[in-house]
Amino acid sequence: MKKLTLALVAHDAKKDDMADFVAMFENDIRPFTLFATGTTGGRVMERCPSLSVTRLKSGPLGGDQQIGAMIAEGKIDTLFFFVDPLSPHPHDVDVKALMRLALVYNIPMALNRATAERLIESFRD
Ligand code: PGA
Repeated sequence: MKKLTLALVAHDAKKDDMADFVAMFENDIRPFTLFATGTTGGRVMERCPSLSVTRLKSGPLGGDQQIGAMIAEGKIDTLFFFVDPLSPHPHDVDVKALMRLALVYNIPMALNRATAERLIESFRD
């Protein structure tokens, strides 16, 4: 069976949350092919060195758009995007574009940890 693909993105204030979440659900996450924006991917691999994560560019340098393009190409099955709603982001248009493509292509998208925890559990057999 084809491995499902999971994309991970976390704004700076949510990176600890993302690393904690991945560590807590490492066994559920391991079966996925993992992609992440640059810094998020670095943090996740630091925390969970046995996970293999393909790191794209950092979000503000185009990483969000790379993930968006992969969604449009049908290469991403699920998106966990931990958004910080309390800080301005220079790449806000990219953030919106990424969410928009996840909606257009109707892929499961968790925008906070609480949703991600429930969503990852739903992939258990
Ligand atoms: P980063 O990008 O993982 O490279 O920090 C995330 C973002 O879009 O802010």
